[in-house]
Amino acid sequence: MRALEDRYGRVATDLRVSLTDRCNLRCSYCMPAEGLDWLPGEEVLSDDEVVRLVRVGVEQLGIREVRFTGGEPLVRRGLVDIVRRTKAIDPTLELSLTTNALGLARMADALAEAGLDRVNVSLDTVDAATFHQITRRDRLHDVVAGLEAAQAAGLGPVKVNAVLLRGVNDHQAAELLGWSIERGYELRFIEQMPLDAQHGWSREGMITADEIFARLEAEFLLEPAVEPRGSAPAELFRVNGGPATVGVIASVTRPFCGDCDRVRLTADGQIRNCLFAREESDLRAALRAGAADEELAERWLIAMRGKRAGHGIDDPSFLQPDRPMSAIGG
Ligand code: SAM
Ligand code: SF4
Repeated sequence: MRALEDRYGRVATDLRVSLTDRCNLRCSYCMPAEGLDWLPGEEVLSDDEVVRLVRVGVEQLGIREVRFTGGEPLVRRGLVDIVRRTKAIDPTLELSLTTNALGLARMADALAEAGLDRVNVSLDTVDAATFHQITRRDRLHDVVAGLEAAQAAGLGPVKVNAVLLRGVNDHQAAELLGWSIERGYELRFIEQMPLDAQHGWSREGMITADEIFARLEAEFLLEPAVEPRGSAPAELFRVNGGPATVGVIASVTRPFCGDCDRVRLTADGQIRNCLFAREESDLRAALRAGAADEELAERWLIAMRGKRAGHGIDDPSFLQPDRPMSAIGG
């Protein structure tokens, strides 16, 4: 087995698979109210193609963790089957899902039964009006029901991902943490990144990790949790002496590119070695032209060698990637 190693010695073992670029929410930091030009159906990998590429990653290239994402992966019709077939490749694979949880209440049991291990649910506020303001939809109750169903189905520890927006929900950070702790969810705040389709991100506008700490420490005692951070991007803190923790993913102000172990497969079959990559490697074309597994693996290895040392958001020459987060797979 070969490893997906880049020129800096980093080895990718964690594969993020985007199953669709479509979504049923319209989070303001992700996409515009009218949505985006979705990928044409024929460009999206079929279920068989997704499973084949994941199998190449696992069997030939040392992938140990697979996370399904999007867009919204729950809107992908074949999701449960894709999960089942992925788990069958290797039952020791860690399988997780990043989702907005709309419809998860209905699907959690089937996903758990198919072999999904965990979910990360994106939820930025527990205030219904603020939820509508951020997502442009009135669906907070569905997310809450989805979280409950995920926990009941054993898809835990259930993690909640939140993005704070200045003047919108940043004053609700402590409320969201208290709410999550009460229900046994592990909350992680993610710094907003320049990956929105509208290119509306600004360094001054984003809420930094330091600001997040300040807002939380006004109500909670936070101490660094003992485990080393390793390749996990979240810095973890014990809340009020534990056992509850909160994580902060400071992708912008404290980048963790040096420890990155990720690689991404887009819904249309492109390998991206970084969220912020400006190049992609087209596995779909090779696959549809009849490439053998070995050739697909070789192309994937080459794609990894082009991975840059860091995202360079702070460089004057930084350019936002052409595709937004929803199309890359967050
Ligand atoms: N629709 C699913 C969801 O929301 O969980 C999966 C895809 S979404 C693109 C994955 C994650 O990316 C979500 O947690 C979302 O909050 C986050 N995200 C989207 N745009 C972002 C941005 N500009 N900066 C930071 N995180 C972002
Ligand atoms: Fe959809 Fe997720 Fe983007 Fe929100 S963050 S619009 S739920 S893809």
